[in-house]
Amino acid sequence: MARYTSAACRQCRREGTKLFLKGEKCFSQKCAVGKRPTPPGQHGQARQRKMSEYGTQLREKQKTRRAYGVLETQFKRTYDRATTMKGVTGENLLQLLERRLDNVVYRSGMAASRAQARQYVNHGHFLVNDKKVDIPSYTVKSGDVLTVRSRSKDMVHFKAVREGSPRILPKWLAVNADQLTATVEALPARDDIDFSLQENMIVEFYSR
Ligand code: SF4
Repeated sequence: MARYTSAACRQCRREGTKLFLKGEKCFSQKCAVGKRPTPPGQHGQARQRKMSEYGTQLREKQKTRRAYGVLETQFKRTYDRATTMKGVTGENLLQLLERRLDNVVYRSGMAASRAQARQYVNHGHFLVNDKKVDIPSYTVKSGDVLTVRSRSKDMVHFKAVREGSPRILPKWLAVNADQLTATVEALPARDDIDFSLQENMIVEFYSR
């Protein structure tokens, strides 16, 4: 599938906020948003002008889509699914994005970024309820148990996960780093999203 391949940090600078696309680097002094907080490109500084309502809505949609590493068509499909669910559409959308298998792998600390998580899922390193799932967009449910496939547990990466310091986890996940398992204890709530966004703008964007 086609995927955005330009430098990850450019995407953060374009959206003017940290999207946490590069793992450890995002928490270091090397983060490009801290060093160069202007949009990318030769005229990035000059481009900072008052945005129209449409522009603001578009940017919120792009920011969210880029943070989760989802392409336009798939993002719109997720939005359409959110509109058919009970409750507030914007919150449903965020919950569906959080419930993606690649996001759960990232959130549980078994990958440094969502992009890395997506690659590990694609390569078939994960089981959900003891069945191999290699679809990054797979939606987890409450009670699902995610494990690293036994033959993948000896990989250098997963050894480092077992031996590394524990990550701050969202309330809806319980992780056993020694066993390389993560349990979805509840569905994610709105306050589990760790970067600022206005989901109502995304709803307005698609409702135009
Ligand atoms: Fe780059 Fe991560 Fe900083 Fe974004 S948050 S600019 S991806 S280092």
